[in-house]
Amino acid sequence: MADLKTDVRFIRGIGEQRASALAKLGIHTLRDLISWFPRRYEDRSQIRRIADLTPGETACTAAMVAAAPTVSHIRKGLDLVKVRAVDESGALDVTFFNQSWLKNSLKPGQTYVFCGKAEGNLLLRRMTNPIVEPEGRQEATGRIIPVYPLSAGVSQRILSRSIRQGLDACADIMPDVLPDQIRRDHQLCHIGFAYEHIHFPTSFETLELARRRLAFEELFLFTLGLRRLRQRRETAPVEPFHPVDMEPFYKALPFTLTAAQRRCVEEALEDMTSGRSMNRLCQGDVGSGKTVVAAACAYFSVKNGRQAALMAPTEILARQHYEGLAPLLEPLGVRCALLTGANTAKEKRTLSAALAAGERDFVVGTHALITGNVEYHRLGLVVTDEQHRFGVGQRAALAGKGDHPHTLVMSATPIPRTLALILYGDLDVSVIDQLPPGRRPVQTSFVDSSYHPRIYRFLRKLAGEGRQAYVVCPQVSEREEGGDEQKAVTEYATKLQQEVFPDLRVAYVHGKMKPKEKEAVMSAFAAGETDILVSTTVIEVGVDVPNAAVMVVENAERFGLSQLHQLRGRVGRGPWQSYCVLISDNQNEETRQRLKVMTKTADGFQIAEEDLRLRGPGDFFGQRQHGLPGLRVADIGCDAQLLREAQAAADALLERDPELKSCPATAGRMAELFTEAADTLN
Ligand code: ADP
Ligand code: MG
Repeated sequence: MADLKTDVRFIRGIGEQRASALAKLGIHTLRDLISWFPRRYEDRSQIRRIADLTPGETACTAAMVAAAPTVSHIRKGLDLVKVRAVDESGALDVTFFNQSWLKNSLKPGQTYVFCGKAEGNLLLRRMTNPIVEPEGRQEATGRIIPVYPLSAGVSQRILSRSIRQGLDACADIMPDVLPDQIRRDHQLCHIGFAYEHIHFPTSFETLELARRRLAFEELFLFTLGLRRLRQRRETAPVEPFHPVDMEPFYKALPFTLTAAQRRCVEEALEDMTSGRSMNRLCQGDVGSGKTVVAAACAYFSVKNGRQAALMAPTEILARQHYEGLAPLLEPLGVRCALLTGANTAKEKRTLSAALAAGERDFVVGTHALITGNVEYHRLGLVVTDEQHRFGVGQRAALAGKGDHPHTLVMSATPIPRTLALILYGDLDVSVIDQLPPGRRPVQTSFVDSSYHPRIYRFLRKLAGEGRQAYVVCPQVSEREEGGDEQKAVTEYATKLQQEVFPDLRVAYVHGKMKPKEKEAVMSAFAAGETDILVSTTVIEVGVDVPNAAVMVVENAERFGLSQLHQLRGRVGRGPWQSYCVLISDNQNEETRQRLKVMTKTADGFQIAEEDLRLRGPGDFFGQRQHGLPGLRVADIGCDAQLLREAQAAADALLERDPELKSCPATAGRMAELFTEAADTLN
């Protein structure tokens, strides 16, 4: 067996067919396979006596089939197999739907393990469609069972068998990326043990040992990667920017900066004149006015004869930044450009050539800005907006475009401290802790869907006053991505237009639309040509339409608090009283508490803390959305103590051996993780 990069199709027991099913999950290599970690575990290790089965609970019991199963054909498409099983404590009646083959495989006198939800009373227990396996030849019972995230065409059984094969195939070749000494110092188990027991734990103790080891490893490598980024930046001297008269820029603004904005600008300018490259996070709640801070820095860079780039997470946002900033900066002699996925290949080439020739000073765009073939003339500053959508790797990729350009990261996500430490461990931080004057708090209410008629009347009234509204629909279920979200949006928009507001202008926008279509819809909305915009969360981030005064969120229970806070931040940007209406029929008490938080506070940090407390950190950034390279087991939030340990270990190692010469496996894996993260962009 070669190594962890081996294609899964060459692993014993996994053929072409299974390999292509696995490929749908993104599992291609042996490493992908064994790193497909369970989402949770089911404890089927206890085998109970029939008499000890509690009605309503799922459990396993071992019992002997008392008589040959009977089959009854109820109607077309419905066959029942019934069988009675017994142990010394009692009897269990088992019914299977449409599994008539069991009639012949369940043999009287033989003992089987049945695992399912028990029903019935003290005299007779029942189970419907339990898992059944011959005693002594069990695969899915009698132990702790991993439950994997799946997609169509791959079952738990196939996955867990494939992973078994995968683990057997690499038992002897698994390289340990943790240096031995560190492993021993921190009492971590061997790599082989860790992979074995994260998938097939023999007890919850071995599971925890495995999890701890893998989480530590992730945090350790991650820290090394961050330290490496910082180190590169700090050791590379850059030509310091010279001071620039900022007055023309400030004079051109339609408002004066708040004290907080001014402080952030000053901190950034100071970094850029220091002779080291800036790596700063500018954190400010929604609506605090981060864009103008970015513009000030761009102006500063351009007046130093260096190009500046502003990278936004969506087309819509990039376009909006461009449309807001170009009219401000062009008259000041800053030649602006917009580069997104919406540009044709030819436009991209022309623009790229202009950038490379230094004929443009400031470019705004999406991650098209960092794809391989865009070249710059003298890139001096890179600003990324709404950073939580981008990973550390992306940050590195853009920074790699120039000769150590300064980087400024703008984020509206109020992040609890422990998380900030991980996410932005390599950054200096400025906070905009003040909103522009004259803002009125958004009035937020939380209602159930019986309020729809009233909400519609309210939307109509505000439209009459010239205001605009957003209506946000979430995707229907977490499993189904994209497609359903799109359907929810188009159907709802059609209904609103045809049945509710035939006289108003209703439009919709979702992530699956072509960039040009999205742009058209958004600019029409921004220009006031639409009254009601039905949308997915594509508008969650950053969009600024001050005339929009209502945000209606359907099925609000499907959103996290921080996400709702972002959504609500889209309104309340103009001089009008604004409203946010959260609609949910969910009866779950916890959910209702969570949504009520929104009606009580507008403070993003408080909301984030609350979100973290109620939902747990796993959900805080949405699954796998944090964009942190390689963090799959570690729970950034719960593993704070482990993080500190891993950071200490990484720092101590770098102190001893800055080039990681003593541990090539560690260095190699770290490099891999950080380039993989950068690659996902292209
Ligand atoms: P953020 O990106 O932090 O959510 P924006 O940069 O989009 O916020 O700014 C929100 C709105 O506030 C914009 O319409 C912007 O023009 C306006 N704004 C920003 N700074 C000020 C200020 N100092 N005074 C008045 N309005 C401001
Ligand atoms: Mg913004």
